[in-house]
Amino acid sequence: MSLIINIIMGLLVGFLIDYLADVLPSTHNIIQPTCEECHQPFPIKDYFFSMKCPHCSHRKSLRSIIVLVSMVVVCILLHYFPFHNLGFWATLPILTYLGLVAVIDIEHHLVLGETTLFGIVLFLIYGVVLHGWTSTLVGALAGFLIMLVFYFLGMAFSKIVGKLRHREISEVAFGFGDVTTSGILGLFAGWPVIIGAIILGFITFTVYSVIFLSILILTKKYKAFANALPFTPFLILGMIIIYYL
Ligand SMILES: [Zn+2]
Repeated sequence: MSLIINIIMGLLVGFLIDYLADVLPSTHNIIQPTCEECHQPFPIKDYFFSMKCPHCSHRKSLRSIIVLVSMVVVCILLHYFPFHNLGFWATLPILTYLGLVAVIDIEHHLVLGETTLFGIVLFLIYGVVLHGWTSTLVGALAGFLIMLVFYFLGMAFSKIVGKLRHREISEVAFGFGDVTTSGILGLFAGWPVIIGAIILGFITFTVYSVIFLSILILTKKYKAFANALPFTPFLILGMIIIYYL
């Protein structure tokens, strides 16, 4: 019985992430979704079930399906491998939040102010309940400051390379969204766990980057600085990994 509930909740969380990732980055509002092709309102029934616009037959992006399937798989896995010392229901808000932040960052290279504010409140509550005020606040400060150093290092690096090449480089290694997300994850992980989460984030990021860039170079699609990867999903991954180690 419990497994069926997990599957149903996985679908619901998947739908919620898809919906918010569709409307939030462009409208910053909770409204009826519109078709990205013809911009007509998307009827809720078609939006969730056929995933095809009734006006122009445009299909929703492959991301919708990937998110749905991933969330169902994650919810089934949570049945066998609970996250941290939290129950399934306490894990769901975290899963929804982190899933949404990762999807928006991958699609738009962007961390929204709305999700950041929501995340501060959500993870402050979890942090204080799990390990008290001191560890929570120190964790957040550490997460924020460590990524801030990397943010400035990345900017300096882009500036120097830009000078050497005599042109501006607009892509930076880390965005300010990575800095705020790191602070938010610090609330949840607390001190000193956040340090481990950031290190693991960097390790997974480096491994993935090497593989990703090798494939681009081998297929001759590589352009210096045009293929920057979003870092926030790796920070999230680092935090998840550390709780399973
Ligand atoms: Zn349409």
